[in-house]
Amino acid sequence: MSPPRVSVVVPCYNEQEVLPETECRLRELLKDLAAENLCAPDSRLWFIDDGSRDLTWEMLEHLAAEHENISAIRLSRNHGHQRALLAGLFTADGDVLISVDADLQDDVQTMRDMLLAFHQGHDIVYGVRRRRDTDTLFKRWTAQGFYRVMAVMGVDVVYNHADYRLMSRRAIETLMEFSEANLYLRGMIPLLGFSATQVEYDRSERLAGESKYPLRRMISLALNGITSFSVVPLRMISFTGIAIFLMSLGISAWVVWVRLFDQEVVPGWASSMLPISFLGGIQLLCLGVIGEYLGRIYTEVKRRPRFIVDKVVGNPR
Ligand code: UDP
Ligand code: MG
Repeated sequence: MSPPRVSVVVPCYNEQEVLPETECRLRELLKDLAAENLCAPDSRLWFIDDGSRDLTWEMLEHLAAEHENISAIRLSRNHGHQRALLAGLFTADGDVLISVDADLQDDVQTMRDMLLAFHQGHDIVYGVRRRRDTDTLFKRWTAQGFYRVMAVMGVDVVYNHADYRLMSRRAIETLMEFSEANLYLRGMIPLLGFSATQVEYDRSERLAGESKYPLRRMISLALNGITSFSVVPLRMISFTGIAIFLMSLGISAWVVWVRLFDQEVVPGWASSMLPISFLGGIQLLCLGVIGEYLGRIYTEVKRRPRFIVDKVVGNPR
């Protein structure tokens, strides 16, 4: 069997500090892998510029002109990591696609293990972080809390796996049939089925530049993950409703009893104030949860394009 043509897909948002090193290491790696007969010599690097405001695109254009196995896609504006990644996966050619972040936090040498797993017949190979002690305490806690919440919500996600993974052409084509706009790729890939496996690696620190995932984006990704894959929050509303209904039955019985047998007692201030504020709070919270789903249904039905490509340079086709 001849080795597969591999495309490495790298989303980049304001990555001018790290890009030269990333490009250099990935190109070396492809050369080594080709020498080991794990990938074809015409394997490629695909960089996606997610509307960067620094020199990322100029650098990418330059690289694509200089090296024949580098392509670059420029999105029309910043679309966010998940959509940039999707743009790359759907535009890149090749028999096997490997997605990796531009900041080299994920050990690129693990791609060798991924390709070995592909040769053993797996369609999807997840890169899984063995340790994450290089992440800040805050990042680790929020991430772990999130995995736990997802488990409670009944969502099937691979623990400690980000978007570092290998997918076969067949898996990518199946992914293309998923048309959702609120993307949470880590949740979608397990839905594809096919034969999947994991390889472990140690996560290191970002080589240069700053994280492009501030808390706001982390929360938004987490909310997408939960609402796109779980209706447990909606169900919790129903359960809360049932519990409050049962409680109110008890309170009604008590009120009737007081009315019939205990005419001296003036109905208390607390027993009317507490339910009002308690119910008011619960109702607003429930409306908020329903609103989160409704808002997403709203963006889904509009069917806007998930990414808009401005230019592609160095495209082999
Ligand atoms: N990224 C992107 N668009 C964005 C934000 C991030 O394409 O709007 C890319 C970024 O360039 C990097 C990857 O997504 O290659 C992951 O981002 P980052 O490393 O900053 O996230 P962290 O590792 O801190 O979670
Ligand atoms: Mg990173």
